[in-house]
Amino acid sequence: MKIITDALPAVRAICPPQKIKENTAYRMTKLCVTTDCADGRLLFHTLTGMLVLLEDEADAEASRDELIKEMFYVPEDFDELAYADKVISIAKALKNGSGQKKKLSYTVLTTTDCNARCYYCYEAGIRRCYMSADVAKDVSDYIIGASDGREVELRWFGGEPLMNPEVIDIICGKLREAGVEYSSAMVSNGYLFNGDVIGKAKGLWNLKSVQITLDGCGEVYNRVKAYKEPGDAYSRVINNVDNALKAGIKVHIHLNVSRKNISDLMTLADELEKTFSEREGLFASAALLGDFRRENERFNGDVYDAQEYLKLRKKLKDAGFEGKRPPLKRELNFNNCMADNDACEIILPDGRLSKCDEQLDKDCFGDIYSKERDTENIKSWKEQVKLPECYGCPLYARCINLKKCAWVNENCSKTSQIIRLGVLKDQITDAYKEWKETLK
Ligand code: SF4
Ligand code: SF4
Repeated sequence: MKIITDALPAVRAICPPQKIKENTAYRMTKLCVTTDCADGRLLFHTLTGMLVLLEDEADAEASRDELIKEMFYVPEDFDELAYADKVISIAKALKNGSGQKKKLSYTVLTTTDCNARCYYCYEAGIRRCYMSADVAKDVSDYIIGASDGREVELRWFGGEPLMNPEVIDIICGKLREAGVEYSSAMVSNGYLFNGDVIGKAKGLWNLKSVQITLDGCGEVYNRVKAYKEPGDAYSRVINNVDNALKAGIKVHIHLNVSRKNISDLMTLADELEKTFSEREGLFASAALLGDFRRENERFNGDVYDAQEYLKLRKKLKDAGFEGKRPPLKRELNFNNCMADNDACEIILPDGRLSKCDEQLDKDCFGDIYSKERDTENIKSWKEQVKLPECYGCPLYARCINLKKCAWVNENCSKTSQIIRLGVLKDQITDAYKEWKETLK
């Protein structure tokens, strides 16, 4: 057996090697993902983070004791899922008790209004309003008061945040005056990301990256986005992406995948490669479109969609649009998203505070004008749920499902399971290739 990556230090500190018991029948743990490679079989332990290579059956037989020590094999009656819960909660408590101050992260909605009309928008029906200059000043005072020497990450969000860029100027200007260290990112449709914006983004806003969604190319994009202004919005957005990249702003293209547009997204991936192969700083990733309004039961797809999704992901990866992501995450997951992370808050245009960008004004826990917080609400966003299918799933130790999250349905769809497992297997293979490179 060859060790490709060792167990995570945080897990190693809690789990000693498993003692080998005589007269005990062992089986493979449920927390193992296996994938074949040219040199044998790779085994990845999703709790400990250890990755090993077994060359063949004889190697597996000879490595039996090592595999038991490293918990790839566990006694027949061992409950590794309860064990994983215990280890993760101890590791989390140790991390929280380490006194390490986290960066603060604020998602600021400059407006809930938008110049596009995507049919799938989960904000449809939300009251359209803009943050005023006065509220923007109060937002900066609030952030300055909370920062306490910590670096602040800002994420401009909407609606379309660029429909109200003046409040971004105000907030950044005041943070700068107060000497608060900040950087920002933006989620935008890219339509208004013009030369003026790029100038401010590079200077005052300290904007590191912008996420822009493309739902297809040319006509498909124009139809889905249905901008209020007529014209070829697709070409305009592609041009804005190019200018942002030239100015050194990273652009993350987000592809919303549904059965309707998957083949068009394949064409789009080719177009992106052709147009931007010479540019640095372009990333692209695909995500399944969620059916938050529960209008279409096929929206979340099936096995066919999962396979098509994985093909698209591979295409983006082969084109070099995945960036230099570490092939395997070398830490345990303690948070699912901003909703269960105490260091993250969403600030609405009127100063109210919320935890989840899918719930926004439907579920607030306070506002920037008072110290009063609805602690029950904050707690409710941390409540986790295990679905029946999680109990046999090798991803159990890496998956957090929040009870209130709109993505967590009554079940974890086959599509989602195939995709998550497919992505992890891909990362395992990449980690192995990287390890082999280091031997050369
Ligand atoms: S949510 Fe899905 S992928 Fe995650 S552990 Fe449960 S079954 Fe597995
Ligand atoms: S709880 Fe779900 S929908 Fe809300 S921010 Fe987190 S991942 Fe997104």
